[in-house]
Amino acid sequence: MILRSPVQYCRHCGSAVEYRLPDDGDTRVRAVCPACHTIHYENPLNVVGTIPVLPDGRVLLCKRNIQPRLGKWTLPAGFMELNETTSQGAARETDEEAGAQFEIGPLFSLLNVPLIGQVHMYYRAALLSDQFKPGFETMEARLFTEDEIPWDELAFRTVKETLQHYFADRQRGHFELHLIDLA
Ligand SMILES: [Zn+2]
Repeated sequence: MILRSPVQYCRHCGSAVEYRLPDDGDTRVRAVCPACHTIHYENPLNVVGTIPVLPDGRVLLCKRNIQPRLGKWTLPAGFMELNETTSQGAARETDEEAGAQFEIGPLFSLLNVPLIGQVHMYYRAALLSDQFKPGFETMEARLFTEDEIPWDELAFRTVKETLQHYFADRQRGHFELHLIDLA
C-alpha cells in the first residue's frame, strides 16, 4: 500500500488548496480552499480481502501484476468501494483478483496501519474449487501449503501478519478475531 498524494486542487472550484488550520477552531491542518473556503477532509481508507482456503488446507495467494509490489504475493484484497459492506468488498476483490469460487466466512483480522491512514480487514473464505480465473491485477493465482508460503516474497506486512495468525490459530484448532495495530 502507498501513501495517498495530498489534495492539490479544490474539488468544488478547482483553485489550488492550502494546507493550514481551518478558521473554525479545528486543531488539525487541513486542505483548505482559499477561494471558496471548502475544507477537504482526508480520512483513512479501508482495505478488504480474504484468506481463501481449500478443504485440504491450501491457501490461495495472488502474484501481483500491478504496482506497488509488482511480482510479490498477496492475499486477494483491495480498497473498499462506496455502497458496499466490508464483506461484500472482500468477496468482490477475491472474485476480481483470483476469479475464485468460494463462500465467505467470518472476519479474521483487523489491522490498523495509522502511518499510511489505512485499516485492513481479512475474512476467512472457503474455496469451492481449485480452478481460478485471475483478473488483470494478478499474474498468477496459486494454492500454497503452509510449508510453501513464500514468506520473503509477500507484498504487504498486513498479509504476513494475517497469514501468521491464521496458521497459528489453525494449529491450535481455534480461530478468533485478531485486532492488530501496526506501527
Ligand atoms: Zn474552492
